[in-house]
Amino acid sequence: MLDAEFFRRWMTATAASVDREADRLTALDSPIGDADHGSNLRRGFTAVRAALEKEDPGTPGAVLVLAGRQLISTVGGASGPLYGTLLRRTGKDLGDAAEVDETRFAEALRVGVDAVMQLGGAAPGDKTMIDALVPAVDALSAGFEAARSAAEQGAEATTPLQARKGRASYLGERSIGHQDPGATSAALLIAALIDAGA
Ligand code: ADP
Ligand code: MG
Ligand code: MG
Repeated sequence: MLDAEFFRRWMTATAASVDREADRLTALDSPIGDADHGSNLRRGFTAVRAALEKEDPGTPGAVLVLAGRQLISTVGGASGPLYGTLLRRTGKDLGDAAEVDETRFAEALRVGVDAVMQLGGAAPGDKTMIDALVPAVDALSAGFEAARSAAEQGAEATTPLQARKGRASYLGERSIGHQDPGATSAALLIAALIDAGA
């Protein structure tokens, strides 16, 4: 069963991974964006870590709602409201349960990913974070390892795509040949589930 502590570890593991990979995320955002994705997420997840320490939410849902709210209020870029919505809507779907099993978590994460698609208007294949998140949710019933490798493959598969949403879409065909920064960070978020479970 996954409890509030698990979700707290998920968020702190994501913060650590974003810290480690911030330069790479920003470098990916340089040719097809405005070179701020790593710093955007670092700012956001630093605020998430601080808020979790200060407020000490007691349920899985409350941890994710608090984290989502921090991302929405601290990240200026497109990714803040999108990741914020992902976590907030996933958390809301979990309600006030003290513990959830992996099946219930997968269901809630699906609700969160659907909310991101609704907010941003992106579908799979548009070269966004959705290209890592949808395969990850699809694979989650087979476990965290399966979700991680699906997300990583999804992120890598964005390279030959032309962007149809977000800043990279302004480049048209010139967006082809670069891995999407948001799909890459989404794979880090999913990979952090394994650190949280370990
Ligand atoms: P900004 O583009 O405002 O500088 P970031 O650099 O932090 O924001 O985030 C860029 C990432 O956000 C992209 O790589 C993409 O994955 C994701 N993204 C942008 N627009 C959308 C959208 N409409 N739907 C889903 N993801 C999006
Ligand atoms: Mg950017
Ligand atoms: Mg920006």
